Amino acid sequence: MTSARTRERLVQRLREQGISDQRVLDRIRNVPRHLFVDEALASRAYEDTALPIGFGQTISQPYVVARMTAELLAAGDVHKVLEIGTGCGYQTAVLSPLVTEIYTIERIAGLLARARRTLRELTIRNVHFRHDDGSVGWPARAPYDGILLTAAPPAVPPPLFDQLKVGGCLIAPVGPDGRQELIRFTKTETRIHRQSLGLVSFVPLLSGLQR
Ligand code: SAH
Repeated sequence: MTSARTRERLVQRLREQGISDQRVLDRIRNVPRHLFVDEALASRAYEDTALPIGFGQTISQPYVVARMTAELLAAGDVHKVLEIGTGCGYQTAVLSPLVTEIYTIERIAGLLARARRTLRELTIRNVHFRHDDGSVGWPARAPYDGILLTAAPPAVPPPLFDQLKVGGCLIAPVGPDGRQELIRFTKTETRIHRQSLGLVSFVPLLSGLQR
């Protein structure tokens, strides 16, 4: 169920759906997604679908994780990345060896603790965790080459654009519940350029903290 063949089938499916960055496909093959979900769901871990992770949240669909990672890396030299919405840490794990440092923020303490533990078990060491409301970003470590939102706001909080380097890109699902557009924003000296990457479905970006 978590075998090499099952994982290969997932990689093949993502390739067919247009994911061509080999670094990303290799990460999807190698990151043990079954360790990020409850044991009861491990047999479904290599299906291309979102799954519950507790606290009313989900682990993102592999296609969406692959797409966001590939779009981020396409921006060129990406060293320092800010991620809003750590969740179980799967997206973080997929991205981690492809960039220098990841700063990740989660508003639910219980999820953050679990993600921290899972990434430590996988000997992933270039990730910095923070329990906070990610809509304010992490200004002390700014600016970032790339920013990923894995929860959807109605509109991107302005502080996040302030913390993005010129030339950097921010990828976010934007819009109301269940009807969001994945958007790639690129920051230039004078403006924010916006490109739609298609329709997606994410959990909403919420304010405030939760234990
Ligand atoms: N990146 C995860 C998906 C996480 S789901 C993966 O790889 O599967 C989105 C996460 O965003 C949830 O854990 C939710 O608690 C978190 N979230 C929602 N609003 C937030 C906010 N304002 N700040 C930080 N995290 C937030």
